[in-house]
Amino acid sequence: MKPTNKTYQLYCQFCHYKKTFDGDDSKSLSLSKSSDIQAGIPRYDSENKAIEQPPMKRGKPKSKCPNCGRVIFVTRYNEPKQDKPS
Ligand SMILES: [Zn+2]
Repeated sequence: MKPTNKTYQLYCQFCHYKKTFDGDDSKSLSLSKSSDIQAGIPRYDSENKAIEQPPMKRGKPKSKCPNCGRVIFVTRYNEPKQDKPS
């Protein structure tokens, strides 16, 4: 059995609502899939006579705070694995 190490943390800095959840639970939390955002503005390359599109950046996953309804970011972190050999 593969241990789950995908854990998300929902933290609202407005009302300090805090919740950690597994990645599989993200659907029930109406976690909105982050849309890609442009990292810059398209540039016109006069030499090549072409428009250069800036690279796309992955947006952070967002969710709504169940407590106050504000849009908050979801932090993803890995749960500490099993006891490390010391
Ligand atoms: Zn809140």
